Amino acid sequence: KPILIGITGGIGSGKSTVARIFSILGIPIYYADDRAKWLMENNENLIAGIKAAFGEESFFENGKLNRKFLSTEVFGSPEKTKIINNLVHPAVKKDFEAWSSSQNAPYVLKEAALLFETGSYKELDKIITVTSPIKVRINRVLMRDPHRSEEQIHAIIDQQMPDEEKTSNSDFIIKNTDNKLLIPQVLKLHESLLKLV
Ligand code: ATP
Repeated sequence: KPILIGITGGIGSGKSTVARIFSILGIPIYYADDRAKWLMENNENLIAGIKAAFGEESFFENGKLNRKFLSTEVFGSPEKTKIINNLVHPAVKKDFEAWSSSQNAPYVLKEAALLFETGSYKELDKIITVTSPIKVRINRVLMRDPHRSEEQIHAIIDQQMPDEEKTSNSDFIIKNTDNKLLIPQVLKLHESLLKLV
């Protein structure tokens, strides 16, 4: 079975970009946030759980998730946020376990924005955090997602665990600043991770 490595970082830190470099090296990547969205529309148990907790209106007739309805439901409600998280996270955990144990690789990466916040870090052997200065992150996200405002990005950053707390709980740190090249850092880390096997 492969070693399980988590990779996280705040919005716009570059964690998906780093994960893509690992993917070029042949490392299987589990994109937890994308997979969670997929499971919410395709995992029968999860669908039933969401309908039981939030009502049939959580889904459209065609089976697509009514994201607008759900996000309005959970917005500003810690109780409802907890309910949805307690439905989604166990489903992702199970799915990741099944996926990772079937991968033929020395290690696999689980990429997630909220690796610490969801408790998912406990199921992983090592954690990588990608950091970059807030100003750089905001500019990158503004370029990538033109529909988002600077205020919206700030609000998301404020909801996430601060970088200092993430890095102090991580085994490896990748600094994705404009003056530090990403690829050499990933190659070096890849070598270190192979030595763990
Ligand atoms: P999110 O949590 O929003 O998914 P993320 O941490 O996965 O963000 P990425 O999507 O990897 O971040 O990066 C944000 C944007 O910045 C992307 O458009 C990416 O191409 C760009 N980017 C990331 N790192 C660099 C870099 N070193 N140089 C130039 N552009 C970069």
